[in-house]
Amino acid sequence: TKVKSAEFVMSNSDVAKCPKNRIPEYAFIGRSNVGKSSLINMLTDRKSLAKTSGRPGKTQLINHFIINEEWYLVDLPGYGYARVSKTSKKKFQKFITNYFEQRQQLVSAFVLVDIRHKPQPIDLEFMQYLGENGIPFGIVFTKADKLKPNAIDNHVDDYCKELLKTWEEIPPYFITSSSKKIGQDDVLDFINNTNEE
Ligand code: GDP
Repeated sequence: TKVKSAEFVMSNSDVAKCPKNRIPEYAFIGRSNVGKSSLINMLTDRKSLAKTSGRPGKTQLINHFIINEEWYLVDLPGYGYARVSKTSKKKFQKFITNYFEQRQQLVSAFVLVDIRHKPQPIDLEFMQYLGENGIPFGIVFTKADKLKPNAIDNHVDDYCKELLKTWEEIPPYFITSSSKKIGQDDVLDFINNTNEE
């Protein structure tokens, strides 16, 4: 599995303006600073396809990239709670929930979590939101180079235990490090295996 071509297509904040064709797409999302831009650059073997942190304006957009002229990689903004947060649906920014509820081309989301941290409420709630809306997702653990192998196993086990409190099954998950280039094949293979009809 290799990324032969990766090109920016468009940015916007309105799901209605996203590309209209039926190309399958995969969306990457997580809290800011989780390592999403670095992961996207690592997956695509590009140095700066996605802009790494420190550019507040650009990050509040839905960014489409076309990969191998076959699938869209969608770089979504880091999520945070919306101000009014009663139901799980209303907890997240409106244009993000619009994207997930309306984008029929979406094959799978990837929710990024920093492997060093204990399961965080906002990440669990976002996964809960996706589950309630029937949106398939995988979990991408980032920054695995920051832990020793046995600590990686322990952290992943703890995460799975937490998920099993509310889920019957563990979603697909991937252990990655952008700086050590770990997990590229796992994620790309998953995408390639799911994007054919
Ligand atoms: P984003 O805000 O989610 O797009 O995160 P960035 O990709 O900009 O990364 C946030 C910070 O984490 C930066 O300082 C990166 O250098 C660092 N970082 C990202 N990925 C990794 C990784 O795999 N390993 C390590 N050690 N640091 C990382």
